[in-house]
Amino acid sequence: MEYQISCECGQAIAVSETAAGTSARCGCGRTIAVPLLRELRRLAGVSEPPLSPALEVEALLYAGRLPEEDHCVLCGAVTDHCVYCRTECERATVTASAMPIWARMLGGFLSGITFGWYVFMGDEREETVCGQDRIYALPLRVCKECAQALMSPDSLRDALGRVHLYERLLKKYPQAILSLLGD
Ligand SMILES: [Zn+2]
Ligand SMILES: [Zn+2]
Repeated sequence: MEYQISCECGQAIAVSETAAGTSARCGCGRTIAVPLLRELRRLAGVSEPPLSPALEVEALLYAGRLPEEDHCVLCGAVTDHCVYCRTECERATVTASAMPIWARMLGGFLSGITFGWYVFMGDEREETVCGQDRIYALPLRVCKECAQALMSPDSLRDALGRVHLYERLLKKYPQAILSLLGD
């Protein structure tokens, strides 16, 4: 796809996606910095695929921009009180491939390791990690009074669901395990 960028002289120059982040030369002789692809797309009005809610949450947490509200999500009162909800969306799963004992003995025998040593090493298993830990401490804007009512996972789920971003996150991870971390 080609994008139009404009030069100070007023001419529009067509650049391809591959030119993103580099520079282009206009007919007038000026060198123009070509924006990054993300920016090119934005300028051209091409919508980006929506960011996954988990990535969005991570980015906002990292930037310290959560929570986004200044009022209690439950009663609507203005408050600066907030609670943290531990939200375990998914955990990296570790699968240990345990070899049967005869395979260990054979392996030990073949590689010249004594049986005793091999038994000693027997707990060494090959571990394969799948996925990654997605566990967040999500700040949730609730006033002190409403926070008292947030004891059960169901009430937490309900309260988190009132924040659009968290709602999307919970939709993506309906099995998320929620617990209150306190304030
Ligand atoms: Zn020019
Ligand atoms: Zn409240």
